Amino acid sequence: MQCYCKSGLTFSHCCEPLLSVLEVAPSAEALMRSRYSAYCVGDVLYLQATTHDHSWSDEELKFIQDWADNSIWQHLEIIDFSEKMVEFKAYYIFDGKQHVHHEKSSFLKVNDMWKYVDSVVFEDKVSFLRNEKCICGSGEKYKRCCFKKLNTSAKGVNDAVL
Ligand SMILES: [Zn+2]
Ligand SMILES: [Zn+2]
Repeated sequence: MQCYCKSGLTFSHCCEPLLSVLEVAPSAEALMRSRYSAYCVGDVLYLQATTHDHSWSDEELKFIQDWADNSIWQHLEIIDFSEKMVEFKAYYIFDGKQHVHHEKSSFLKVNDMWKYVDSVVFEDKVSFLRNEKCICGSGEKYKRCCFKKLNTSAKGVNDAVL
């Protein structure tokens, strides 16, 4: 299967060896991609382990786990990168709404392992035309693909039942 990070490689030749800690990320960009894939599979411990200051509280862990698990991760777009910086946009549906997370992250190599340090987050609004090709790469138009998942998150369904 294609890797979650949309590198064009298969999962087993891209982020899987990093997530299963068989290999270390060869670059900050590779680490960033693997962290996106970790969100897709809900591997919050990997996110914690690859963060430079990973003294996360239980509440922070739970918040990130909820975000990862309750989002439909559609697409990762790398905007720019250098040795220690990656700027990207992650597209996802959360709470029945289309979102884009636009972030410029900085990384540091500690004991030969790349770690995420911190980031600047840009407040981008996202909207897609219904007849555009869907951002998730399915080849379908947005209206026939991810648009249908809007307002149908677990929470949306639960609210409708109530
Ligand atoms: Zn990947
Ligand atoms: Zn889609």
